[in-house]
Amino acid sequence: MAALLNVENVTVKFGGIVALQEVDLSVRTGQTTAILGPNGAGKTTLFNVIAGSIRPTSGNVIFEGDDVTGKSPSSRCHFGIARTFQITQPFGGLTVLENVMVPLVAKSTPMHAAREEAASYVDFVGLSAKMDDPARMLSTGQRKRLELARALATRPRLLLLDEVTGGVDRPSIPQILDLIRRMRKERGITIVVVEHNMEVLLGLADDAIFLNRGEVIVAGSMAEVAEHEGVRRIYLGDG
Ligand code: ATP
Repeated sequence: MAALLNVENVTVKFGGIVALQEVDLSVRTGQTTAILGPNGAGKTTLFNVIAGSIRPTSGNVIFEGDDVTGKSPSSRCHFGIARTFQITQPFGGLTVLENVMVPLVAKSTPMHAAREEAASYVDFVGLSAKMDDPARMLSTGQRKRLELARALATRPRLLLLDEVTGGVDRPSIPQILDLIRRMRKERGITIVVVEHNMEVLLGLADDAIFLNRGEVIVAGSMAEVAEHEGVRRIYLGDG
């Protein structure tokens, strides 16, 4: 299967700290890829390199054949790359619907069409009943779903999810995972996740990359990577 995104030989240095060392990653179109590793492994750095908020010291990021290495997060958004944040950032004073309209209006979608399209995303994430409530009234799980609706409103082809179940109460997690799976299946969106919960990862990811101290230890199918002893030690407490 063709790759939608390729990270090629990426190194990131912060002063004397090497956060990523010659990392390669291929994200297959229509699949979900997980970035794994212990604390300080470089997961967030790799995520930010893909999102465009960190520029690599060397190496390239190629999206659908275009070199996007030097592009800002907002211009990546025009290419079809969207991200969510670990700490959700809705406009608390705006309603749920208005929050989802923002990316559409920013793309010059006429108001009426933006309202209709935004309502379809609010419905997709199961927040129709909350459409006219201020975003600040939402629970953490509902905010995560609003984040997903806002990401959909950028009409992404690649969606980067940062700890999408972080801080969410356990009963709400399956709903969020189901939504992410539907984004992939029904809308063909390719997904990259950073996530600490192995149970979540096993239910979500097709492919995975495992980093340690900025280097790729193993990459392949999620099932293969989950069997790696380094992964088992960190995520399952083995050994
Ligand atoms: P965690 O699971 O703890 O979030 P991580 O795998 O996401 O860790 P990164 O946050 O990518 O790891 O950090 C990789 C390395 O780079 C660490 O040694 C970290 O201290 C360092 N680092 C990350 N960001 C910066 C920065 N802005 N300035 C200096 N060092 C940084």
